[in-house]
Amino acid sequence: MDIIEELEDNLGKNKVFYDNASKYAYGFDASIHHAVADVIVKPKNANDVKEVVKIAYKYGMPIIARGAGTALSGQAVPIKGGIILDMAGMDKIKEVRIENLYCVVEPGVIYAQLNNELKKYGFFFPPSPGSGDVCTIGGMIATNASGMRAIKYGATRDYVLGLQVVFPPGKIYRIGTSTLKNASGYQIERLMVGSEGTLGIITEATLRISPLPEKRGVALASFDSLYDAGKGVANIISSGIIPSALDIMDKICIQAVNKSMKIGLPDTEAILIIEKDGKRREIKEDMEKIVRICKESGSKKVEFTDDEKEMEKLWRGRKGVLPSLSRYGKDKISVSLADDMAVPISKIPDAVKSFQELSKKYNILIGTYGHAGDGNLHTKILINPKDKEQWKKAEKVVDEIYKVVYNLGGIVSGEHGIGISKAPWMVKENLNIMKKIKDAIDPKNIMNPGKMMEWKGSIITNLRYR
Ligand SMILES: Cc1cc2nc3c(=O)[nH]c(=O)nc-3n(C[C@H](O)[C@H](O)[C@H](O)COP(=O)(O)OP(=O)(O)OC[C@H]3O[C@@H](n4cnc5c(N)ncnc54)[C@H](O)[C@@H]3O)c2cc1C
Repeated sequence: MDIIEELEDNLGKNKVFYDNASKYAYGFDASIHHAVADVIVKPKNANDVKEVVKIAYKYGMPIIARGAGTALSGQAVPIKGGIILDMAGMDKIKEVRIENLYCVVEPGVIYAQLNNELKKYGFFFPPSPGSGDVCTIGGMIATNASGMRAIKYGATRDYVLGLQVVFPPGKIYRIGTSTLKNASGYQIERLMVGSEGTLGIITEATLRISPLPEKRGVALASFDSLYDAGKGVANIISSGIIPSALDIMDKICIQAVNKSMKIGLPDTEAILIIEKDGKRREIKEDMEKIVRICKESGSKKVEFTDDEKEMEKLWRGRKGVLPSLSRYGKDKISVSLADDMAVPISKIPDAVKSFQELSKKYNILIGTYGHAGDGNLHTKILINPKDKEQWKKAEKVVDEIYKVVYNLGGIVSGEHGIGISKAPWMVKENLNIMKKIKDAIDPKNIMNPGKMMEWKGSIITNLRYR
């Protein structure tokens, strides 16, 4: 009996797909990479997942868990072929326990779907990735996703209390707890955060939740220089105010958003979007301070709004940067390469200045934006993806960008994760320990093989562009 027959026999034919169109389509995520899968399985529960892992283990076949496929570094691409485990069908919100500050969900629940449910109780699950309208909780845990509110509320890792996981060779485990505190040995649930499907398959998550803030207000500060905007970020943070979001956008990003979304952002070198949430009185006081600090840091104009529609429009513009850059011009689109570094907050001005210098040195467009308030920047390199020479140049720029980042005390990824596109720039000591853990948990190396510490060679490979 071959593996497909065995999958069909154990799970039912309606959960197993191996037509060419599916195998090709499931080979993409939102990264620059693509590869073709061997078979797609759509489990409905943890027992289905257990069966798939058992069969994959028996045949030594790779398994790649997939949520919504929005990963930006190739994490969900079946680089060595194998079984794509499409977790989208496991999408139940099982419990909301306000009195205990947690909820229990299946991994295919979409971030926005969970927050729509929690809103009924006046609560929310805060990590807020830009892809929150589509990405899944399983994908968020496996990549430690976060977003613009991480500066105040932290990342996904800060909310994972307990998990149900299927580990090789096919056994269901409960790890962690549902209590808020837990000092009972190794925090194994934390090991799954950022594991990118390389250790086990998450089949249920117990997540901490937070009360929704009473009110929000947003300031929009315009700057004539990206460096000054960077200084503004460091000055706001060192004043002791913790905004609920503090994002930066450079001229390239502003122009791309205005062109594609007609949002009417100020036509200037850089903007900061600063959000403060909490009690009404606190917001007013802190916003007055923030406006003053922005002006002292060189901002020519600072506007403030607490109108829900206006705030929503501003954040829509900010969230629209990535898709807008992808439509920048006929021969120039953004590619996800060195696009998610984190540096110490005080180093933001130096980082953005260095990226601008590299852009000039290599005569290549780099759009910079991101959650500057927590030191997380996104640098999008714009090239013609059909031009091999431009890819080669981009690869050199990526290398230089990461040299800058490490020299400033930073790290390769703040929120998007490693997959393939960031793998060569991971810290070597971490890689060795990760490899030992991986070998112990997954001795046949069937769980999303070939990624992170296993990636060898160039990142300009298995490109989705023909
Ligand atoms: C427009 C856009 C904006 C984005 N903005 C942000 C942002 O602001 N912040 C941010 O952090 N990221 C962002 N991302 C990246 C991406 O959305 C996140 O990494 C997200 O968490 C991925 O979720 P997903 O459901 O799409 O997972 P997938 O892409 O399907 O998978 C991601 C990884 O998780 C693993 N995985 C998925 N489900 C499971 C499971 N049940 N068990 C074990 N492993 C699993 C996969 O194997 C893979 O390694 C953005 C992406 C896009 C396209």
